[in-house]
This record gives sequence, C-alpha cells and structure tokens, in this order.
Amino acid sequence: MVRKVKRYENGFILDPVVLSPKATVGEAKDLKAKWGFGGFPVTENGTLRSRLVGIVTTRDIQFHPNLDDSVTAIMSTDLVTAPAGTTLAEANDVLRSSKKGKLPIVDENGNLVSLLSRSDLMKNLHYPLASKLPASKQLICAAAIGTREEDKYRLKLLVEAGLDIVILDSSQGNSLYQIEMIKYVKKTYPEIDVIGGNVVTRDQAAALIAAGVDGLRIGMGSGSACITQEVMAVGRPQALSVRRVSHFAARFGVPCIADGGIQNVGHIVKGLAMGATTVMMGGLLAGTTESPGEYFVSNEGQLVKAYRGMGSIAAMEDKKAGAGSKDTKASNAGTARYFSEKDRVLVAQGVAGSVLDRGSVTKFIPYLVAGIQHSLQDIGVNSLQSLHEGVNKGTVRFEVRSASAMAEGNVHGLHSYDKKLYS
Ligand code: NAD
Ligand code: ATP
Repeated sequence: MVRKVKRYENGFILDPVVLSPKATVGEAKDLKAKWGFGGFPVTENGTLRSRLVGIVTTRDIQFHPNLDDSVTAIMSTDLVTAPAGTTLAEANDVLRSSKKGKLPIVDENGNLVSLLSRSDLMKNLHYPLASKLPASKQLICAAAIGTREEDKYRLKLLVEAGLDIVILDSSQGNSLYQIEMIKYVKKTYPEIDVIGGNVVTRDQAAALIAAGVDGLRIGMGSGSACITQEVMAVGRPQALSVRRVSHFAARFGVPCIADGGIQNVGHIVKGLAMGATTVMMGGLLAGTTESPGEYFVSNEGQLVKAYRGMGSIAAMEDKKAGAGSKDTKASNAGTARYFSEKDRVLVAQGVAGSVLDRGSVTKFIPYLVAGIQHSLQDIGVNSLQSLHEGVNKGTVRFEVRSASAMAEGNVHGLHSYDKKLYS
C-alpha cells in the first residue's frame, strides 16, 4: 500500500519501472497489476541509464492476445523524448504539446534517465493542495506499527517501500517500549518522522518529546468505539487533553493530532481551537464508500458498514487468528502487538458495531473542509494559525455551557425536522 501511494503521483520519476526487450506481454500485464500503472519504458538492459529502445503503455498491452510475445512486438518506437537537464516546467510543456501520456528523459547517448507522466500533470492541476514532497512531488505517506521487536522488521519493509512518517500506535504511549522504539527509529532512519502516542497529559508528552518524537497523537478513551475510560478507569476528556498537551508540546515545536471523538464539523473546529494542528477521524470516515468493509442493511433497514475498535474482542481475535497463519513475518508483526501470547483472557478496550453510510469521501471531505471554513469565518479568523493565536491571546474564547444552554443550542421546538447536512 505504501508503494502504491508513493507511486501515485510524481514529478520526474527518477526510478521508473523499466522493461527489458526480453520481457513478455504477460510480464508487462503482471507489472501493471502490481504497480497500478501500465506505461513502461523499454531499454537495452532493462534498467535505467541504458539505451531507450521503446515504450509499452496500457493501450498496447490491453487487447494483445498472445501473452508470450515479446514486448518489442507491441512497443512504440517512434518516441517523443526530452534531453536531460530539461526543467519540470519545460518537460510539462512538451507533454502538453506532444499529447503523449509519457515523456522519457534521455541523456546525449540516448540512455533513459527519468520519466514524466501526463497523469501527474493532471493530478497536480486537479489537486494542488495534496500533501506532497517538494522535490519528488510524491504524496506523503504514513503507516502505523506497534512497539514489539518484530515491528522493527515491519518498519524496515515500510521504509524500503518509501515511507515518510511512522506512527507508533498504542493506547498508552508513555511506555518503556515506545520510548525505546522512538530512539531506535530516530537513530536507524533519521529521515523518517515519528508520531508517538497516545497521550493525554503533559508528563506523558514530555517523556516522548525527550525521546525524540516529531508529532504527538492525543486521546485516550474518547474514540467512538472505545471503552478504555469505562473499563480501565484511565483516560481524560478530549478537549482538556488536547488543550493541555498541545499547549505544552508547542513549546518544543511538536505538532499534535486530536485523535478521537470527532463526530461532526464542530468537533473538528473545537479540536483545532484547543491547539491541535490536525484531527484524526475513525468512525466518521468509516461509513464512506472508500473505507474498507462491506455495506449491509441493518435490522432497521438502514445501509451500514461494520466498524470496530482495534481493542475490541473481534479485532483482537482476528489478529490472533492471523498470528498463526502462514503469512509473512511482517503481517505477523502487526498481529502480535494487540495481545500477549501468554494472555489467556482478552480484555476488551473497544466495541465492534456499525456506522451509517456516508457516501463518498469525494463529497464528504469537501463538506468538512467547507464547514471548517464557515466556522472560522464566524469566529472571525482567517487561518488556522490565527485561530491558535486568537486562543492564546484570549481574543477567541471558550465558555462552559450549562445543560439548558446546550439544549438551546440544538434544534428545539419543532414538531419534526429533517437534518440534511450538505448537498
Ligand atoms: P500496545 O501494542 O501498546 O499494547 C499491547 C500489549 O503489548 C500491552 O500489554 C503492552 O504492554 C505489550 N507490549 C507492547 N510492546 C511490547 C514489547 N516490546 N515487549 C513486550 N510487551 C509489549 O497496544 P494497545 O495499547 O493494547 O492498543 C491496541 C490498539 O487499540 C491500538 O490500535 C490502539 O490505538 C487502540 N486503542 C486506542 C485507545 C485510545 O484511547 N486511544 C484505547 C484502546 C485501544
Ligand atoms: P494510461 O492508462 O493512461 O496508459 P498508465 O496506467 O500507464 O496510464 P499513468 O496514468 O500514466 O499510468 O500513470 C499513473 C502513475 O504511475 C503516475 O503518477 C506516474 O507517475 C506513475 N508511473 C507511470 N509509469 C511509470 C513507470 N514506468 N515507472 C514508475 N512510475 C510510473
């Protein structure tokens, strides 16, 4: 998955997947299935920096019946190329005027040095705000691991696939295991950012900041599918946690994620106003078309999708079953972290249930973004930074609402109503 994200968008593709003239059409099809794209330059040695002899694209392989044929039978050889040293803007101009899907960049001897794709030009045009690395234009990608010894192997594979950020996932981040893991990651992969957590107090945050985290995740027991506060009697109200921890972490330049309890646009604004620089949503996005899991119709006739806390018995048992499977070491590493092999009793910190269908993220996320913008307009600030400054200076203020004030702030006095949130 990391590989697919990193390959989704590029500027100059400096390590393109390249074919040798000996490759077959079947191999090209397999590579398309593996990587998600189907345009491959063909070079004499089948490597970068070897002489470019042709290019195979999705349309060349799509309807070719004989999978054993050599790719040289179908590749295009009349190529539009650009010389090494061409700037990204110049190369994009060539792509625009040539109307081709790919632009190989070659040196003076005709050796392939990089590749440019038309779809990257389009993605950049359509999604200019996507979080990208400035040099490669590749999307920024994060993945989570636990704090067991095996997770180091999982991390190694993730880094090889191009990972930028690792999240250490635990309900209680201030543990010896996590502190050791933070130090290990910073020492072994200094270029990788580490997000530690979860924490809800300044003391917890201080320990992880001292160990070297680049970001913190705040929230314990506030998630929609979480029963940590009820069962463990451990946790903290989310607004207070975010305020205390992010205020403290800001002194060290460590940004914070408000994780848990986000049910609507207002909660996102509250999380940000309390000092978080971003929020994390589980249940709210779990009902979207793009999230994993099957839809089913509930007993009440509503379209729903299964959603479960990672600390639920169902999730833990699934993990346990996975641990015994013949799968790779890497997936086993993910397995072991939710329970100890010696544990005879699984103690749940979450529930398994379902969430209502929310349609596609392509509509839902723009709604959340527009909602936040309207909220900041009503507050009277024009950026997230001014929101944080306003709260710190006391120009943006909070007030405790009584139970009757909350009732007044909700819909009341109507015989019936329809709460459609966006269109
Ligand atoms: P965890 O991996 O931190 O802990 C699981 C168990 O493994 C613990 O008993 C821990 O002590 C042990 N362990 C961890 N590293 C070890 C090591 N190196 N050697 C030996 N033992 C080790 O996971 P968790 O806290 O049980 O959380 C499980 C999942 O549930 C996570 O996805 C977490 O985010 C989620 N969760 C979140 C919250 C919350 O409020 N944020 C609450 C409950 C669960
Ligand atoms: P089409 O279906 O239009 O022929 P395609 O499936 O070959 O296109 P593109 O849409 O051109 O693929 O590219 C998809 C993504 O894959 C782009 O972001 C591009 O950066 C990347 N990409 C394309 N070809 C390669 C390659 N040979 N090596 C590495 N990355 C590539």
